[in-house]
Amino acid sequence: MLNAILMMTVVSALMGLILGVAGKVFYVQADERTEAVTGMLPGYNCGGCGYPGCSGLAAALVEGELSTVSCKPCKADQKAKIVEYLATTPGPDGKTITVKA
Ligand code: SF4
Repeated sequence: MLNAILMMTVVSALMGLILGVAGKVFYVQADERTEAVTGMLPGYNCGGCGYPGCSGLAAALVEGELSTVSCKPCKADQKAKIVEYLATTPGPDGKTITVKA
């Protein structure tokens, strides 16, 4: 009985150590601009832009996959706000993004 408890304690400690190290090694820094741009989009999640939702388009813009804000329901002032935000807010790599409205 004591051996089983000791064995479970050692296995648990090893698993915790492995998970802790993996969390540090595989940590991906999130780009906060994705959430900010998602908040600037209409939030209809209609898919008209070709992405499954507004957050998908926001992620594509922030990752530099698109050169224009391709949201059809988006008004001109909303698009201009997104363009200005991406042009003036650097990401984790220190770079800004240039897109058209
Ligand atoms: S077209 Fe605009 S409102 Fe519709 S999902 Fe894309 S970003 Fe959202």
